[in-house]
Amino acid sequence: MNILTVAFECVPLAKSGGLADVVAALSIEWKKQGHNPIIILPKFYFIDADNLGFKPTNHTLVVPMGHWNEYATLLHGKLPGTDVDVYLLEHNEYYGRDGLYGMDGKDFLDNPRRFLFLSRAIFEAAKTLNFKPDIIHSHDFHTAYSQAFLKCYYRNVPFFSKTAGVFTIHNLAYQGRFAPESTMLYSGFGMQEFYQGSWHEYHGGTNYMKIGIMFADKITTVSPTYSNEIRSEYFGEGLHNALNYRAGDLIGILNGVDYSIWNPATDKTISINYDKNNLDNKQKLKSKFLKDNGIVGRDNIPLIAMVSRMTEQKGFDLLIRILEDYLWNNKFTFAIIGSGDIHYQNYFNYIKNKYPNISIVYIGYNEALAHSLYGASDFLLIPSRFEPCGLTQMYAMKYGTLPIVRATGGLADTVREFSSFDNSGNGFVFWNYNTDDFSFAINRALSVYYSDSINKARINAMNTDFSSKKSAEKYIECFHWALEKNVN
Ligand code: ADP
Repeated sequence: MNILTVAFECVPLAKSGGLADVVAALSIEWKKQGHNPIIILPKFYFIDADNLGFKPTNHTLVVPMGHWNEYATLLHGKLPGTDVDVYLLEHNEYYGRDGLYGMDGKDFLDNPRRFLFLSRAIFEAAKTLNFKPDIIHSHDFHTAYSQAFLKCYYRNVPFFSKTAGVFTIHNLAYQGRFAPESTMLYSGFGMQEFYQGSWHEYHGGTNYMKIGIMFADKITTVSPTYSNEIRSEYFGEGLHNALNYRAGDLIGILNGVDYSIWNPATDKTISINYDKNNLDNKQKLKSKFLKDNGIVGRDNIPLIAMVSRMTEQKGFDLLIRILEDYLWNNKFTFAIIGSGDIHYQNYFNYIKNKYPNISIVYIGYNEALAHSLYGASDFLLIPSRFEPCGLTQMYAMKYGTLPIVRATGGLADTVREFSSFDNSGNGFVFWNYNTDDFSFAINRALSVYYSDSINKARINAMNTDFSSKKSAEKYIECFHWALEKNVN
């Protein structure tokens, strides 16, 4: 199958969240399974294309934007370390910047236009490269308009007459809502297509996520539970009606993990490797990690970690209400790596200052440190208010680090409560969003830590398989459905 993936993120080239991991992992798997995937993403300023072996293609793309044309070039290379073809769309005025979506906490004002340009340019790129896609797979609201372009502008072009569109929602909370004028102008639909009840209209503005939902042949979300949750008003972020309208085409496919990157036995970013037959080395890694971070005498006290964007979604308001009780009573060592809302960052800096001997706080993004933390920790906290899939619990499990999660979205699909009676389960789960239930789950985890069952729980977690192979196969199945739907 020829699969054209379009996204704003793809590891290791550009990443702000889990979207980037999934985009790369899927194409890598499809390639292994004999398909023919290509990925198109913007050539951001910070992508060191020369050093990564990208070469100009000598193609100039002529991209319709509204009632005029704009121009871009394409660089071709391989996704580093793989044989997956990647095309970087070079347009310096749009993408020659340091940020993906904004800088210094502020979104770029021309984002609606930057998103539309990529969503439209892929069709011109496909034609120029003579890559006839069976599927155009676009991810999240940034590239959602490609689904509308496929249906409205390109379906009648013979080159794309058999192409189906699949749109994947990674997080419904981010929708791309903009003033209508710019979107309607640059997308070429014009204000005549913008009226109450039209697919372009949403509470007086445009909503890119809604466009993806309404125009795609199939819509996927990143876990089965989340695909059900978002049809309710509580989780639907205002789009539950649109999602219910398309419910027959809405499918939940759990994200997968690329275990060639996330594997404690082979991971080069952690200083001591281990596997389930050698958990002593995990303990050694923990001791070294604590020592390297100036924490002494706490090798046999639980290390509880978080690796997370600091946003309300991730359940920080629950954690903030209970964390000091635990630290004051010296129940565990706490480590966090993340960045985001300034008031959460300030709070964790306060924790670091008040409890310097029992906490590690790193504000910022650091891939290598994240790997070390998954490896060195005993538990990972994910008390999310909602969680479309969540990758961190899956990474943690592979590293024998037990997740403590709220049962929502993909967390509900991946984590099972550990039971000391029959040694089943791979983590700790609470259901209701309140501090009592969260603390109770932490307390259960702490008691297992001090019991004989701890290694059994770790091994269960390490044995749980979330490989991207399974996930990639499910997408192929979904692509077939999209193509069947498209026959007429
Ligand atoms: P989301 O996409 O909502 O941020 P996920 O759990 O799906 O949450 O994916 C988060 C990804 O980002 C994981 O790969 C995680 O390891 C990574 N990550 C989050 N914060 C940081 C950070 N501060 N430094 C390094 N990696 C991080």
